[in-house]
Amino acid sequence: MSRNAVTKALQEHNSFLIVTHINPDGDALGCQLALAKVLKRLKKTVYLFSEDKPPAMYDFLPGIDKIKVVTDETNIKFDAAVIIDCPSLDRIGRASELITNQLKVYIDHHPGPKHKKSINLRDSKSSSCAEIIYDLCLKMNQKIDKTIATLLYVGIATDTGFFRHPNTTSASLLVAGNLLDAGANAHEVSKKINQNYSLKRMQLLGLALKNLKLYNNGEIATMLVSLNMFKKTKTLPEDTEEFVNFPKSVKSVKVAVLIREIAKGKSKISLRSDKAVDVNLIAAAFGGGGHKQASGCVIKGSLKYAEKRILVQIKKGLKK
Ligand code: 5GP
Ligand code: MN
Repeated sequence: MSRNAVTKALQEHNSFLIVTHINPDGDALGCQLALAKVLKRLKKTVYLFSEDKPPAMYDFLPGIDKIKVVTDETNIKFDAAVIIDCPSLDRIGRASELITNQLKVYIDHHPGPKHKKSINLRDSKSSSCAEIIYDLCLKMNQKIDKTIATLLYVGIATDTGFFRHPNTTSASLLVAGNLLDAGANAHEVSKKINQNYSLKRMQLLGLALKNLKLYNNGEIATMLVSLNMFKKTKTLPEDTEEFVNFPKSVKSVKVAVLIREIAKGKSKISLRSDKAVDVNLIAAAFGGGGHKQASGCVIKGSLKYAEKRILVQIKKGLKK
């Protein structure tokens, strides 16, 4: 569906719920806040909700305190729900309970279904939803001020791994350049995100790196993080953001896997690949999803069990 259907819906409705996926990342949060700012300018009522508290590393995002966590007391009325950066409602957690018969507007860059009775703006060629929101701002003749520029720049920069991942295109760089012209500061954003680690986090990384293992003649790398490691270093699951890039940095590696124990008998997997393997398909085999080169899923079982299962699936993918 065209961007016009989305801008029309945004202009014609008066109150909005803007939600995004569980464990929100820089793209999800940046887009939620940037779109909220534009809609408020248009005198709309906007509610921002998230299943999980945004990670502390994004505390610097202007307006981040406006994003509330869904609780039993949450009771809001709105005309339309905008669902950003996730292909379906099962990725937004309890926020889905807030949506009944309101119009649903999906804005996403993951491959996914076309939802009935909804507006679907799905562009898997975009590096990030931020690139799409940027287009929508231009279409609605909305000025990209310094705040919006910073929020959208954070979205593009984090989803492309600061312009290193395979989803980086000339469009991502052109839009990012325009956002810098509009007031975003590349160095400041990078410093806040990439040079803002606690000692505890580095200690957790040290423990995780000790666990880095290669399989399949070095084509697959796994890194395991246990509940015990979190406990030992007094860290949180959000402290593992970007860890998967370490196994991915080994020369021979085509598929990198980070496996975190999120509860006893529950393992969260992050997958990264180059063009060689579609890791979205691999995650989908376990009920997860994502992009061709970056995906995730949850496997019920211990770290070792999850590693065994995912390795079998990746080896199949490498043979294709
Ligand atoms: P990450 O490894 O950074 O958590 O996620 C990489 C990509 O995979 C993101 O686009 C994220 O939305 C997606 N993803 C991660 N975990 C899951 C999951 O459990 N289910 C689905 N459908 N997508 C996931
Ligand atoms: Mn995204």
